[in-house]
Amino acid sequence: MSAQDAIDFVSDNITEVGTLMRSLSGRYEGIFGNLRAAYGVAFEQAGSIADAARDASAIADAATASFRDNIPNQPGNACSSGCAACCHLYVQVPPGTATVMAQHIVAHFTQDERAALRARLEVAAAAARDAADVMKLRMRCALLGADNRCTVYEVRPLSCRAFTSRSVARCHDVVFGDVPEGTGVEQNAAHFRIHMEATFALEQAARNRGLPDAQKGLAQALLDEMTSSDAATHPDQCLAAQK
Ligand code: SF4
Repeated sequence: MSAQDAIDFVSDNITEVGTLMRSLSGRYEGIFGNLRAAYGVAFEQAGSIADAARDASAIADAATASFRDNIPNQPGNACSSGCAACCHLYVQVPPGTATVMAQHIVAHFTQDERAALRARLEVAAAAARDAADVMKLRMRCALLGADNRCTVYEVRPLSCRAFTSRSVARCHDVVFGDVPEGTGVEQNAAHFRIHMEATFALEQAARNRGLPDAQKGLAQALLDEMTSSDAATHPDQCLAAQK
């Protein structure tokens, strides 16, 4: 093979693979458009916005598992149970999520646990109201157990599910340390996007149903839901408490 033949062979080979890669990259991007459309169809069929929020977590979990099992070169994940640095960041929830969480709390928490949680949520909601910039707020989540595990793990919000990290040390620096403005924890882009698409689709589903679509701070949203479910379950006690 002459030098020119070698150049032609290598160039043709690279051109062919480049064409394949461009086609694949379009298909890869299409995954997220299809995902958003699938969320939308499922949420339209859900009986309520809370049911849609439940569906959102199930679909996002399945998409995450499928990505992990089928798409090569996924970034590593240093997250593990009991590492709760990210549970000191401000969390927002899309429509329906707080209802699902409040229902879970009614079903699984004792009355004393609910009262203690309500007190912690009130402190957290007040801190968020008073904060000049909630994104800089660093506060232990009211739902984080003494063992540093989420007490509502099965129904945790989409943003909690979305957050991943390749480095525990980096998380601790960003959450508890002093890092330059605008720097954060590098996310697994696909994993994060799966959950953000669910969030956007839930907001759209709420608009389609004529419901408020804005995300709310977790503590306030959960307090509101717990108050309305208590009012529905024990109307006499709530009226007495208001007097
Ligand atoms: S809801 Fe659970 S996972 Fe989310 S910040 Fe609170 S304790 Fe952590």
